[in-house]
Amino acid sequence: MSARHNRILHIDGDSFFASCEIALDPKLEGRPVWVGGGRRGDGIVIAANRQAKKYGIKTGTACFEAKRLCPSGVLCRPHYDAYRELSRQMFLILEQYAPTLVPYSIDEGFLDLTSFDEHIWRNTTPTDYVQGIRQRIWKETRLPVTAGLANSAKLAKLATDAAKGVGFLEVPAGREKDFLNDRPVSEMSGIGKNRERSIQALGALTFGQVAKLPSMLLKQKFGIWGQQLWLFANGQWNEPLVLEIKDRTTISSSTTLPQDEPDYEAALTFMLSESTRLTGQLRREQMQAREFSVAVRFTNFTEVGTSHRFKHPQFLNSVINEVLEQMFRGIMAGQRLPVRQIRIAMYNLERLDTHPTLWGRTHEERWGALDDATHQLNQQLGKTALMTGAQFALRHIDESQKQPKSKCPFTPQREMIAKLWGAAGPVKPMQPTLFD
Ligand SMILES: [Mg+2]
Repeated sequence: MSARHNRILHIDGDSFFASCEIALDPKLEGRPVWVGGGRRGDGIVIAANRQAKKYGIKTGTACFEAKRLCPSGVLCRPHYDAYRELSRQMFLILEQYAPTLVPYSIDEGFLDLTSFDEHIWRNTTPTDYVQGIRQRIWKETRLPVTAGLANSAKLAKLATDAAKGVGFLEVPAGREKDFLNDRPVSEMSGIGKNRERSIQALGALTFGQVAKLPSMLLKQKFGIWGQQLWLFANGQWNEPLVLEIKDRTTISSSTTLPQDEPDYEAALTFMLSESTRLTGQLRREQMQAREFSVAVRFTNFTEVGTSHRFKHPQFLNSVINEVLEQMFRGIMAGQRLPVRQIRIAMYNLERLDTHPTLWGRTHEERWGALDDATHQLNQQLGKTALMTGAQFALRHIDESQKQPKSKCPFTPQREMIAKLWGAAGPVKPMQPTLFD
């Protein structure tokens, strides 16, 4: 079977969080804007728009340094819930432009235009088609996006990087090698510092130089990945876009407390409230966990932590929270510093069958139904309409928890998919793999 030419479009929001702030407050348009903060405004910049970048402000710059570099600029505190909503709107638009959409991060996704044939291209060109998508996203969400079109997702992503400031770039079929020739290998996403250094040691800094290396050498050094890199550098990497929905392997939460907490009972309440939330989310995803870990970071950044493995996977708050409480008390015995951050993780996950059976309602099924109902009520009536004892106690301790702080949405692909189409994934059939 001869390989079909993939046409994969990558779309990426420009300085996404900063653009969201401008979309939410049009008065900021045209001004240098960055998003950042930290508890006391002493944190780092997590996104800066083009105007701010001109002043040398970028992700990772300290906020006070950003203000010094650009006194007329605007610091916005993050509004993650609003970013998520804008992201959702963007993906709902994208979904209408191709049979397969693969979300990649909160502001990035891939569309598969491979199956578009003459019927579509008779009336439009890739450039017009993509400009149409960009304009529609701009009109409906006020978000600027950049796009790249190429024969693989990897190359499309590089095309987008090259198109920043221009809006769209297509690498035409057959021109892949030319496009890559002078580009540094370090630009490829997910390459990693070690591999980059090993490739440099072979005398190759650009894809053009990699393409000239013997493919056997790359295979010996890096295995399959090396072969793929060689094919990629030679413009022959043909990977169809496939939407995979993988099961979760772990669930965790890492929370910096609203203020340094000297009261360990309050910190414990906070942790139990978080574990209740995680357990509920797991059950809604029809999962249960066997292993649990707790780590506590103090104000001087030292840490204590421990983990526990159950004989069988668990899904009940009462069972899980009892053990987490023991773990917490164990590691906190003899400590005296205030708590800055608490992390909990649940892993070694297994399926939880909450589906109805013919033989009466199971324990699992009842809990699943309860979680669904709680979630639904809280969505309708506000986040804290229904609370567990731990959550209620927490609210009592700390008024700032009335509106729980939203979490940074570095959402994995599986969660993005769930948000767009529900836990079951897209209703449309998935694209079959086109190669043998
Ligand atoms: Mg982006």
